[in-house]
Amino acid sequence: MFNIFKYGPNLKLVRWQVRLSWPLIRYGKKFSDVPVLKWLIYPFFKRPHNELTSIPIHATIKAPDNLALPMKLVERLVSEIDEIFLMDECHCAGVKNRNSPRLHIGCMAFGPAIARIHPSHGRRVNTEEAVEHIRKAAKAGLVANIAHVWIDALAFQLTQFNRLLFVCFCDDDQCIYRSFMKRRGPSLAGAYRKLPGLSVRIDPARCKACGTCIESCFVSAITLRGNTATIGDACAGCGFCVNNCAQGAISLTMENEEEMFQQLLQRVREISDLPLKIDQDLTQRKMT
Ligand code: SF4
Ligand code: SF4
Repeated sequence: MFNIFKYGPNLKLVRWQVRLSWPLIRYGKKFSDVPVLKWLIYPFFKRPHNELTSIPIHATIKAPDNLALPMKLVERLVSEIDEIFLMDECHCAGVKNRNSPRLHIGCMAFGPAIARIHPSHGRRVNTEEAVEHIRKAAKAGLVANIAHVWIDALAFQLTQFNRLLFVCFCDDDQCIYRSFMKRRGPSLAGAYRKLPGLSVRIDPARCKACGTCIESCFVSAITLRGNTATIGDACAGCGFCVNNCAQGAISLTMENEEEMFQQLLQRVREISDLPLKIDQDLTQRKMT
């Protein structure tokens, strides 16, 4: 028997919460573009308590050591945080399709706040086990989302929201974050952010204007201009359009790894008070 004051809700309760909140989130996003209603809905999706950065770990941009660069960035981030909880199942996949092969590629929660996660959800893991899980998600073709979202803290009753970060692994069909984003209001557009230093480009010489990428982009960031598809500012850098283009016209590029990693850390610092090893080492060095 687990202490109900020590832990948040157990697995069964969270499953029900996610099921019940699904329509609310769906219609909240849809109505976030409707006059008057959008101002009532906006606070629920406002930054910084609702912010996600996508990292296309499924993409194959190589670093000099031959490891995929997006993956390397997530692995480095994971190595910066000591407390890691690995969920046994992805709640989004659980709502949409319990037979999905990705049901057991669960989210990971980071930081001191994880102490309240009920043990029925999974287990604490070390950095190596976390890295292994990320590689499994990348192999399954999923994108990693670095998420600081109030609904996660609420669902698991984690009181230290500012000392919490989630990394979840998503596709386009079974994700509560990525679904229903096409008809969102402008206030919601800033919630899903591109990784700094990442560019997604279309080669006009290869584009056949077939429209596949336009249809499939979850934030409707691609439009047709003349005979070429063009990617606009709304792009969240998930990288899914790259594989959807049969002409190979879309590519991802990344700038300097170290710079990108520092910018990623800075983004984490801006949205949370997560104890990062790099900051602790710096403080210790200053004290000695
Ligand atoms: S899927 Fe490729 S070819 Fe088709 S519109 Fe998009 S970029 Fe052009
Ligand atoms: S344009 Fe491509 S990379 Fe950008 S959000 Fe759309 S699908 Fe993702």
